[in-house]
Amino acid sequence: MELPRVIQIGYGVIREVGSFLARFSPKRILIISGPIVWARVGEMVEDALKREEFRYRCIEVDHSTKKEVEDAVRVAKEFGADLIIGLGGGRAVDVAKLTSYYCGVIFVSLPTSASHDGIASPLASIKGGDRPYSYMTKPPTGVLADVNIIAEAPPKLLAAGCGDLIAKITAVRDWMLARDEKQEYFGKYAANLALLSAEIVLSEAKGIGSGSKEYVRDVVEALISAGVAAGIAGSSRPCSGAEHLFSHALDIIAPNVGLHGEKCGLGAVMMAKLHNLDWEKLRDALRDVKAPVTATELGLSADQIAKALVLAPDLRPERYTILHKIRLSYEQAKALAKDVGVI
Ligand code: ZN
Repeated sequence: MELPRVIQIGYGVIREVGSFLARFSPKRILIISGPIVWARVGEMVEDALKREEFRYRCIEVDHSTKKEVEDAVRVAKEFGADLIIGLGGGRAVDVAKLTSYYCGVIFVSLPTSASHDGIASPLASIKGGDRPYSYMTKPPTGVLADVNIIAEAPPKLLAAGCGDLIAKITAVRDWMLARDEKQEYFGKYAANLALLSAEIVLSEAKGIGSGSKEYVRDVVEALISAGVAAGIAGSSRPCSGAEHLFSHALDIIAPNVGLHGEKCGLGAVMMAKLHNLDWEKLRDALRDVKAPVTATELGLSADQIAKALVLAPDLRPERYTILHKIRLSYEQAKALAKDVGVI
């Protein structure tokens, strides 16, 4: 198991980032951030680093493709970075995670939104590589999550994070299916931890939808727990099943439409139906947190949804899920999406 060593969550904790980092005794820090986030919180972070007299450099990334990672690796090596910070939402954290993994240096995650479980997981979602799904790396050594900053991010990001959490319900079901039918290793503890993180969204959906800070904190903690579950399992199994493959298929069929967590949430509703679970409960929770529950709300057509359902199992033939067991035809895929009101 590889797990984060220090996790600090709280209101206004960004101000303590200097002392947080000091425990790792870094000599040269590389910060990887996005332009919007850097404009929002960069000064605060810089002030904290200057107080500790750290040597640092910052690079901004707009995307999370192989190119950004290659460029960041080059900068990190030239600069001699021994600690890399991912400061931002999904992209910057993903690029920083894979860069630090390639460079073999400490990675610290400073999330500024709660849109997916990559905050604390060992998985990095990088586009343009040899696979449409996530890369297995190492979890961050440190995670510092400032709830004040995360609460100020656009509400749709938090709703997407809830979609990524609800997806754990069908991901764990797929893992159980692989255990029962393919004798795959199944980690009960990791599975339960992932489920726990989904259950908090189901039980507190209305509160989360209100945007109140205490609920934002719950979502952040749940996303971190889900990431830790992947660290315990040593794979993405507890966090990612057929609903994630559906989301990855949409990345190919309709690039840059909808957020990862939004697509996974929608996928989870359909996979829940295939698993004979209470899919309406999942749909209602998504609605309560103000996440999209239909293709139209996500900006997708019925045709794109059906195509993604058909393509999804081919993206990872070795990862057995409900979509590998029930190979849907285009017509069957459309009927499924219709049954649960997605189209
Ligand atoms: Zn995910």
